[in-house]
Amino acid sequence: MGITPQFEGIIIDFNCQFKMHIKDSRISTILASFAAVLPQLLTDFFQKVLVGFGEYAMALKKKPFTCKCGNDADFIWKTRHGKKTKIHGFYRWVELQQLQVKCKLCGSKMYITRKLLGMEPMKRIAPEIYRKLGLLGSLTTFRVAEKIGGMFGWAVDKMTIWSAVQKTASEIDFKLDANELPHGEADGTGIGIKGIAKRGKELKVFVQYKQGGGVRIAGLDLGNYNGSWDKLFQNSIEVFKSFSQFLLLTDGDTAILDSLKDKVKIIFQRCLWHIPHQAKHVLWKDAVKRKSAESLYVISELMEICAIRPFVDCQQTIEMMVESKRKRLGEIIKYCRDNGYTHTVSYLENAQPDMFTALEKRLNGKTTSKVERVMRTVNMRVNVSKWSKAGALNVTKVRLAYYYNGFDA
Ligand SMILES: [Zn+2]
Repeated sequence: MGITPQFEGIIIDFNCQFKMHIKDSRISTILASFAAVLPQLLTDFFQKVLVGFGEYAMALKKKPFTCKCGNDADFIWKTRHGKKTKIHGFYRWVELQQLQVKCKLCGSKMYITRKLLGMEPMKRIAPEIYRKLGLLGSLTTFRVAEKIGGMFGWAVDKMTIWSAVQKTASEIDFKLDANELPHGEADGTGIGIKGIAKRGKELKVFVQYKQGGGVRIAGLDLGNYNGSWDKLFQNSIEVFKSFSQFLLLTDGDTAILDSLKDKVKIIFQRCLWHIPHQAKHVLWKDAVKRKSAESLYVISELMEICAIRPFVDCQQTIEMMVESKRKRLGEIIKYCRDNGYTHTVSYLENAQPDMFTALEKRLNGKTTSKVERVMRTVNMRVNVSKWSKAGALNVTKVRLAYYYNGFDA
C-alpha cells in the first residue's frame, strides 16, 4: 500500500460495549449515564483511531516518521498500548497509551503518538485546541466558560482556559494593513490591575479605519499613564512608509513617528478623561501639595466639568449643560490665577477651546469615537475580573482579534 494523491483515509472499526447499571429512564438519568461514559468513550476512540493509523503507517514503505538515524523505512512495533501520556482532547483531558516503534537500523525506540496526532513533541495541547479554548476564555470569564462547558458534558477547567488564552495571545500581533485606509485613531483607557491602586495601567489601542467602514486593530499596549506610546506604532513603521499619507487622531505621545513627519499627519484630540489627570501634574509643577485643600478643589471641579452624562436627548439641555461647565471652568481658571498657579492656568486655557467642542459632540452622541466602542468591547471582559498586567493584555489581544481582525478558532 502506498500513499496515493487521492488518499481518502482508512476505515476504523470502532465497537464499543458498555454495561451500565441505570436506576430509571428519566431524561436526567439517561444524560447523567451518558456523561459518565463519555470520558472512556473519548479515550477509547482516540486510542482506536491512533492504532489504526499506526498500523497503516507501519505498512507504508516510507513511514510518515523518521528515526534520529535517518531511517524512515524499517521499524518494528514495540507496543501499541505503552506508557500513558496525557493530552487535551478538547472535551476533556484524555490519557492515551502511547504507540512506540523500534528502529531496525540503530535499535532506538520512538513514540509516534504525537506524530500521528500532528502535535509537537512533549506538548499537551494542540494549537487548534488551545486557540478554541483561548477564544472562549476571551469571550467570557474563565468561571462562566467552565460552567457552560460543564453543562454540555465538558470537563475543561479554568486554569486550562486561562493558559490557552496566554498561548493564543502569544501568536497574535497587530499592525497596520497596507490594503486598508490611511486613517486611524489611537487612545488609552484605564484598566484595573492587581496590586496597583486606582485605575491601574493604561491600555493603549491603535485602530485603523477599513475600506468598507468599521475599524481593525493595528496596535495594542498596556503600560503606564503618560508612558511611551512607541509600542503601539512600532510594528507598523514599515506600513506607515508604504502610505503616501496617513491621518492619525490621538492625544498620545507619537515621538516614534517623528521621522515620518512628511507622511503621517497627526491631529491631536483633547481627551476629557486626561484633563483632571494631567492637571494633577501641572499643579505639582506649581508647587501645590497633592491632596491639599487647594489641589482637591481644583481636581474635583475639573472632574465634574469633564464628566459626561451620555444620552441626553434634548439639545437645549445640552447647551445649558455646556454653558454651565464653561462657566465653572472659567471660575477654576480664575481661582488658579488668583493663587498664582501659572502652569495650571496656561494648561487649562490651552485646553479650554477644544474641550467644549468635544463635550458638545459627545453629549449629543454625534461623533462617538471609534476607539471608544473598541474600549467598551475591552471593558466588558476586563472589568469582570482582577488581572495581572500580562493577563489583561493577553485576554484583550484575543478578544479584539476576534471582534475586529477576523481571528476565529
Ligand atoms: Zn534509527
